[in-house]
Amino acid sequence: MRKADLSTQCVHAGEARQKDAGSITTPVYTAATFTFESTDDLLRFVNGEEQREEYGRYGNPNEKSVEAKIAALERCEEAIVYGSGMAAIVGLLMTKLSSGDEIVFFDQCYHRSREFCAKHLARFGVVTRQVKTGDFEAMEAAINENTKMLVSESPTNPHLSVIDLERFAAVGKANEVETLIDATLATPYNLNPTEYGVDYVLHSATKYLGGHNDLIAGVICGSKEQLESVRKMRGILGNINSPHNMYLLERGLKTFELRMQRQNENGLRLAQFLEAHPRVERVYYPGLESHPSHAIAKAQMKGFGGLITFTIRDADWKQTANIVDAARIPRIAPSLGGVESLIEQPLVMSYFHCTPEERERFGISDNMIRMSCGIENTEDLIADLEQALTA
Ligand SMILES: *Cc1c(COP(=O)(O)O)cnc(C)c1O
Repeated sequence: MRKADLSTQCVHAGEARQKDAGSITTPVYTAATFTFESTDDLLRFVNGEEQREEYGRYGNPNEKSVEAKIAALERCEEAIVYGSGMAAIVGLLMTKLSSGDEIVFFDQCYHRSREFCAKHLARFGVVTRQVKTGDFEAMEAAINENTKMLVSESPTNPHLSVIDLERFAAVGKANEVETLIDATLATPYNLNPTEYGVDYVLHSATKYLGGHNDLIAGVICGSKEQLESVRKMRGILGNINSPHNMYLLERGLKTFELRMQRQNENGLRLAQFLEAHPRVERVYYPGLESHPSHAIAKAQMKGFGGLITFTIRDADWKQTANIVDAARIPRIAPSLGGVESLIEQPLVMSYFHCTPEERERFGISDNMIRMSCGIENTEDLIADLEQALTA
């Protein structure tokens, strides 16, 4: 029989064909605890003869079916869902790292991930070494006998740099260090990092996986063996999801392939439009030949996603803000990946309290705009940006 392709998996993977009461959708199991019929029944569970639910903090059926679906999409043995993308990062790193260990990561990354490592893991004696994104020599030089994990995003936010994952995984393997890729911006539609030998894949499911700007969740994917301790630790940390939230995520995932096709298309078309526009100084989008990561992105990714960063020619922060304010379709908000297009000025949204030196170091300029393309009509979005740029 033909192996199910992505859209079929989005709709069906992880779900029992016949569910309780013949329900076509997964019922929402609002249970904090799960009952045993008798002591014999309990003993079968305790002895490991039967796999089933026990207590809500260790998992629930809604979570299990979403995990199985995401594992299928990411082509991994195992997926563990968390209460947020940050909870997933914290859950993995708190499981895998101990006092005296070190991690090395590429410096373009989600600012809260950086903050957690540099500020909070440090309190537990874990050393974080940051090296320039894509500089593999610097990464190798930063590795020593205490190094336990190499961390990167791909593509990165907001510069959309794409990492050569074959090389990244090879550096890890050669040094016997595990590797983690935050592939939130890529999604399993555009990229499956474990196919290149990466150990762990992380997603903020808040973004493209949920896809509707209506839930917060995160997920870590990898092998059963490497994630066994991570799942146990989640049961202790308790950074889990409610069954209702998991129902929403499962529903969002049904249309994942369709949404990604439109968001990839909107991303590329808008990036091309912006690059040709006289008011635009520079566009960061890995699908454009002008992007430094274009060659590796083209070789590694099926599409380039819906996130675009661009700068406005000869504009100060206020003139840039005026363009953001003139856009009528995209809404001003943080986040990305949902069906509604979102627009923001990184200077104001995420880096307002940084010093000018820090912003310079993170590559955030006053005239920078980040747009997350939703699934709206492509021509409508182009016309709207045109009027905003010339208003
Ligand atoms: C949003 C985001 C996160 C954090 O995820 P939450 O679900 O908001 O906790 C981590 N990494 C990247 C790349 C993100 O975009």
